[in-house]
Amino acid sequence: MTSRITKSIILISSIAILLTMLLTTMMGNSYSKERTTSGLMQEARLIASSVEMNGIDYLEKTDFGKKSRVTWIADDGSVLFDSTQDEEQLENHSDREEFREAVENGEGSAVRYSGTLMHSTLNYAVRLDDGSVIRVSGMHMSLLAQMMNLTGTMVMILIAVALISVIAARKVSRKIVRPINSIDLEHPKTESGYRELVPLLDKLNTQNIKVRRQMDELQQNRRQFELIVGSMSEGIIIADQKLNVISNNEASLKLLGIDEFNIGQSIYSMNNSDIFRHCVLNALGGIRTECVLEMADRQCEIIASPARRIDMVCGIVVFIMDVTEKYKLDIMRREFTANVSHELKTPLTTIYGISDMLAENMVQPQDIPQFSENIRSETERLISLVNDTIALSKLDEGMIFGEISDVDLYSLAVETVSRLEITAAEKNISMNVSGEHITVRASRNMLNDILYNLCDNAIKYGKDGGSADISLTKSKKGAVLKVSDNGIGIPKDKTDRIFERFFRVDKSRSGKVRGTGLGLSIVKHSVMQLGGSISVESRLGEGTAFTVEIPCE
Ligand code: ADP
Repeated sequence: MTSRITKSIILISSIAILLTMLLTTMMGNSYSKERTTSGLMQEARLIASSVEMNGIDYLEKTDFGKKSRVTWIADDGSVLFDSTQDEEQLENHSDREEFREAVENGEGSAVRYSGTLMHSTLNYAVRLDDGSVIRVSGMHMSLLAQMMNLTGTMVMILIAVALISVIAARKVSRKIVRPINSIDLEHPKTESGYRELVPLLDKLNTQNIKVRRQMDELQQNRRQFELIVGSMSEGIIIADQKLNVISNNEASLKLLGIDEFNIGQSIYSMNNSDIFRHCVLNALGGIRTECVLEMADRQCEIIASPARRIDMVCGIVVFIMDVTEKYKLDIMRREFTANVSHELKTPLTTIYGISDMLAENMVQPQDIPQFSENIRSETERLISLVNDTIALSKLDEGMIFGEISDVDLYSLAVETVSRLEITAAEKNISMNVSGEHITVRASRNMLNDILYNLCDNAIKYGKDGGSADISLTKSKKGAVLKVSDNGIGIPKDKTDRIFERFFRVDKSRSGKVRGTGLGLSIVKHSVMQLGGSISVESRLGEGTAFTVEIPCE
């Protein structure tokens, strides 16, 4: 800007100087022409009156110098006298403009240019009484010649002016530009600088406020987005067309097992497995793809979707979900189905075998009671297996079976003991209920299942002549139910597994004892659904104690 202003100032001042000089020369030329003409006129009148008085003697005796040429022309146009040339040699002047004018009007003038246009000749003629004419001619320099004469001076002046204007223009342009340069574009103040800039600065101010507000909104939206995405347990990764990560949340790093990652790195630096690459490349090709990534300790489901702008894929969005639990459940369900089928098959095979023998009359009459007893016990086993399976599947569905009511745990324990009286008597096991009456608001059926299974186990795995104690106390959280026996106990390394479905500590040992391996699973699920907890303490050969805590509210 400074240099443009400088150049403009120099150009303008040079043009101004040239024009001034041209005009001055023109005015000077016109003035000098006027003066020369009036000088010639006076001189012509003076010579004319002198010739009137003294005749040709005056002309011949007077020295007219080199500046003017005096010619006496007779009324027929022939030259009678000429101060610079031989009059004999001169042609007839009757066609001269000034001559004709003087003959007609008494006085006349004319200007004639020389061939080179450098000079012009001014003529002034005055008529005498006898009709002859005195003409005085003088040279006058033309405008072009005058200008050429002044060329040297003009060049000098121009150079001087140019130098002065360069220095002045620089200073002036810097002075003009300084306030503009010092404008703080972030916070433009309208009071500083030029009045002409006020609308622009005002506009700039409004724009700045608008931009700042939009930036704030954008930042707020981004913070909100980061907050939401950051709190998600699912991983989310957004990558551009070159597969460089633009955004990702903490969960994505955690799920893919990455400690350090920087935005801008390739998505493949997060996971480079074939499955992941396949998903990502498909999404980039515009196809939403799902796959499961097998990690060391978990399974992750990957959903990669293309992000489109109009019809172009401009990036991808990858969701990562931890599906380990879902996988475990699927495996458990498959195992459960296989176990149930297996457990059903054994009693059914026995029942089928006996009934087949009976139908074929292959059983001796004295053996019929024994075979009938076998059918009955196998059917009992089948019924309890089916009942346990139904109970477990209901618990799996999260169904609370039975109505919710206020249940006195102490009374329920006494009821359970009386239902198991005969079974306990068969092994000569004494059962004892102690503690306080505690009311729990829950499903009576569920509480019954918990108590029944624990007491039944205390008898089943109790020693002949042993004991089973049920105690009820209150804790901060609620009711504490403890069922302990002095039976066979559970090996330490198996206590964690006894709540698993179909798990029996020692199949050969438990084989003699009726059971499905589902009782404790039902207990644990029921307790959890009531919002309680269960723990077990056991010593092999000494006895086992189950402690159940159920919240009262
Ligand atoms: P089951 O139908 O076999 O009793 P449970 O789920 O009730 O199935 O128990 C699982 C296993 O835990 C039993 O097979 C048994 O080996 C062990 N167990 C359960 N309760 C006791 C107990 N009170 N004393 C010793 N072992 C027990």
